[in-house]
Amino acid sequence: MINNLSAKNLNVWFGEKHVLKNVDVEFPKNQVTALIGPSGCGKSTLLRSFNRMHDLSPDAKIEGTLTIDDLNLYQKDIPVTDIRKRIGMVFQKANPFPKSIQENIAYGLRINNLSYNQSYIQKALEEAFLWDEVKNDLKMPATRLSGGQQQRLCIARAVALRPEVILMDEPCSALDPVSTLKIEELIHKLKEKYTIVIVTHNMQQAQRVADKTIFMYLGEVKEEGKTYDIFNNPVNEITKNYISGHF
Ligand code: ADP
Ligand code: MG
Repeated sequence: MINNLSAKNLNVWFGEKHVLKNVDVEFPKNQVTALIGPSGCGKSTLLRSFNRMHDLSPDAKIEGTLTIDDLNLYQKDIPVTDIRKRIGMVFQKANPFPKSIQENIAYGLRINNLSYNQSYIQKALEEAFLWDEVKNDLKMPATRLSGGQQQRLCIARAVALRPEVILMDEPCSALDPVSTLKIEELIHKLKEKYTIVIVTHNMQQAQRVADKTIFMYLGEVKEEGKTYDIFNNPVNEITKNYISGHF
């Protein structure tokens, strides 16, 4: 199995607070991995570490080895923009630029010095299952789209940069059930081309979309494995309690 993204012995502190403790994780290529665990256990901190989003927090201290293929993500001479082209991120609250639908794709490409044409923009929107819904409104402000459409636009903006990995931090938490299912369908399609990591509090969602599941608790990885095994034969007592809602 090929892993293109991994963390070895990752420790993260915010000031005195030790938030991630000796975390070892591997995200296999062309698979969906779900990150689950109670609020505050460090799921977002882990995702953000891969995107170097703690670079701007002066009180953050990071130790360990994070790699994409053989590239060390914290190597000094690697511009963070190069990393973010390879590792895209989608957040809980859809955050389109305050611009038109097509400009959301075009602007994202321009700020990353990538060239594009109209058919490239169309392709990105098609890839996020959005084209048919927006093809007559490309100049409309993105903020007029529904929440689910805005989230798919953010996914289109991410895939337009041709990443290898897409990190999704609770992408459906703010969405209705129909929009949620649409995004799950999209995730199934996207894994043919990308490595996907999804943080979710929805245990059914993890079982629907994820090949692999990682359970975190108090900053540590407590259990991981094939999604079916984690949900049907959890080994750890804490995992059992968490997935059955006794928490
Ligand atoms: P989760 O996503 O699993 O809910 P987080 O990764 O957001 O958990 O948070 C893990 C812990 O780190 C929490 O205790 C949170 O308060 C703390 N934390 C997260 N970001 C920061 C930060 N920038 N500064 C200080 N503490 C933080
Ligand atoms: Mg979080």
